[in-house]
Amino acid sequence: MRKKIIAGNWKMNKTIEEAVALVEGLKLELADCVEVEAVVCPPFTALKTVSDLIADTQIKLGCQNMSSEDDGAYTGEVSHTMLKELFVKYVILGHSERREYYKETDFWVNKKVKKALEKNLRPIVCVGEKLEDREAGNTEAVVEAQVRGSLADITAAQFEDVVVAYEPVWAIGTGKTATSEQAQDVHAFIRGIIADMVGQEAADGLRIQYGGSMKPANAKELLSQPDIDGGLIGGAALDAASFAGIVNAGK
Ligand code: PEP
Repeated sequence: MRKKIIAGNWKMNKTIEEAVALVEGLKLELADCVEVEAVVCPPFTALKTVSDLIADTQIKLGCQNMSSEDDGAYTGEVSHTMLKELFVKYVILGHSERREYYKETDFWVNKKVKKALEKNLRPIVCVGEKLEDREAGNTEAVVEAQVRGSLADITAAQFEDVVVAYEPVWAIGTGKTATSEQAQDVHAFIRGIIADMVGQEAADGLRIQYGGSMKPANAKELLSQPDIDGGLIGGAALDAASFAGIVNAGK
């Protein structure tokens, strides 16, 4: 039985003061939530503050990127050691905004995924097609290339710590959500690729999140699909009541 995982990607939002207010709200709503894994991914500048605030709760800490290197002359980067010092458990890798604006390729996402797993951090690996890919009938080809490239050389045992997020780019921040049927089809397709890569048992254990304008109003239907094991939430994660509403929809 795969435990549902709802992760909030705050992106480049929330000052420390704002982060405190959001987390205080989440603590009231979710502090004792055990049926669903709730993860918050603040910007780096708020990680320490949020980490301290959620230390005695069930809420887990994630971040939005990580260097593929251990330490040294990599200006502007943040290492696994620095993240683990703050009790970060999850790291979002290969988000479509990083692929699009910072030209992160599957090669680099894969390097980061390997480093995260080697250092006992759990990667949330994002894949998803653009609107033009879907309209050209290339959704499966694009998603398959990203899955195989970003997750190359990961063993079946390592897959226990991996989360995949299927995020159709046309649904991110647009208010357009994939229908539950469209999402379910791609999730089942991704699970099939993983079975081909590392075997059915690892594929059956893998949690695959949906991301793209998920809100309390549409979460229940998406999360009730057999291969949808959670959500990666952008806009709706910036408000305690709406994020909690999505988490509660996963119960
Ligand atoms: C995201 O960027 O991962 C995301 C799903 O954003 P939103 O929920 O705002 O569509």
